[in-house]
Amino acid sequence: MSQAVVNGRKAVGSIPERRPPPDERKKTKPSLVTAGPGNLPLPVWRCKVCGYLCARDGPPEVCPICKAKKDRFERFM
Ligand SMILES: [Zn+2]
Repeated sequence: MSQAVVNGRKAVGSIPERRPPPDERKKTKPSLVTAGPGNLPLPVWRCKVCGYLCARDGPPEVCPICKAKKDRFERFM
């Protein structure tokens, strides 16, 4: 009378393993790490009033967007 125990087991072998080997998971590239100086020789300035960004030697005299003076600019990069 041990038939009931055998019926409880399902055929597990019918589904093939589809997961890649563990080595495949290490290939995830770190994104946005390459963003750094080197590609952009000029410093970037940011208007603290409106968020305007520009890359040049120094901040502009007046923000072209909100007309804020250059002392409202901060070094962004
Ligand atoms: Zn501005």
